[in-house]
Amino acid sequence: MKITVLSGGTGTPKLLQGLKEIVNPEDLSIIVNTVENNYFSGVYISGDIDVVMYTLIDVIDEEFWYGIKGDTYLTNNTLEKLGCPEKLRIGDKDRAIMIQKTKLLKEGYKLSEIVDLQRKKLGIKSKIMPMSDVDSDIYIDTDIGKLDFHDFLIDKQCSPHVNNVVYSIVPPAPDVISTIKNSDMIIIGPSNPITSIMPIVSIDGVKDALKDKYVVAVSPMVGDGAVSGPAGKFMNALGYEASCIGVAKLYSDFVDKLIIDYQDKNLEDEVKKIIGDVGTCDTMMNSLNIKKNLAEKVLDSYKI
Ligand code: GDP
Repeated sequence: MKITVLSGGTGTPKLLQGLKEIVNPEDLSIIVNTVENNYFSGVYISGDIDVVMYTLIDVIDEEFWYGIKGDTYLTNNTLEKLGCPEKLRIGDKDRAIMIQKTKLLKEGYKLSEIVDLQRKKLGIKSKIMPMSDVDSDIYIDTDIGKLDFHDFLIDKQCSPHVNNVVYSIVPPAPDVISTIKNSDMIIIGPSNPITSIMPIVSIDGVKDALKDKYVVAVSPMVGDGAVSGPAGKFMNALGYEASCIGVAKLYSDFVDKLIIDYQDKNLEDEVKKIIGDVGTCDTMMNSLNIKKNLAEKVLDSYKI
C-alpha cells in the first residue's frame, strides 16, 4: 500500500516514528511544509524537511524537535564570541546539511532535487519532498504589527495577540501532485493546521487531488488547545475553535476521517457530523508504543 504523509516539523514527525516501524519505507512518501524556509547565518534552512530526514534516520533531537541529537556547537559558540550571535542555534553537523543545500541552490539546483540527493546520501528509502521549490512569504499580523514568522516564534515567544496569518501560495514541487495521485492513502499528521498543513493543501491542485483519495488526519488539538506551540492562537485568528471540532471544520472538504484523542471522546458525534468518520485513540505521543499504536490505528482506517 502506497502512503503519502503531509508533514510539518514536530507533531507529524512523531507519528512518522511509529509509522516507520510498521510500513515498508519504499511505500512511504512525505510532502513537507516549506513556509518557514529562510536564510539564517548565511545558510538556507528548511527546518521541517531536516526534521523529517533526521527522524527517519533516528538522529532527531527530540528535546527540541529541531537539529541532531548529540550535535556539537563549535561554530555557533565561536560566532557568539565574535559578537555575532545566531538567531537560531545551529549545530555543526546540522549546519553541514544546510551548507550543502545553500551551495547547491546557488549552483541552480531545485530544492526538491537537493532534498532527494540528501535523503539518498543519508540512506533514507522513503521519498521526502518539499511542498514547493518556491519559497513562501509568511507573516503573522498581530496587535503589535506584522511580524516575521521567526520573530513571532523566537523573539516574541508567540505572546502577541494574533489577528491573521498570511502566506503566499506557491506552485507544487514537481512530484507533489503525482505522488498524491499514485497513493492508496494520504495521512495528514497532527501538525499545525494553519502554518504546516493548509499551506500544503492550498497549493494549486493539492486539494483536488486529496478529494479523490482516502485521507485520514490526526488532530493536533487535544482538549481546548494545541498539544504544543501557537497553533491554537492561529486557529482562533482564522475563526476556528482551537479544538478537534475546529480541525474538523477546517479539514471537512478534503479529509475522510479524523482521529481525535480519547480525552475528546465526548466530541465524537459532533466531529462525525462534520467530517463523516471519526476514530479515537491515545494521540499524546510520549512513547514509541503510543506512536506505533496511533500509526496502526491510522493504517487500519484504510478500507479497500
Ligand atoms: P512545526 O513545524 O514545528 O510547527 O510542527 P508541526 O506543525 O509539525 O507540529 C506542531 C503541532 O503538533 C502542534 O499544533 C501540536 O499541537 C502538535 N503536536 C505535537 N506533539 C503532539 C502529540 O504528541 N500529539 C498530538 N495529537 N499533537 C501533537
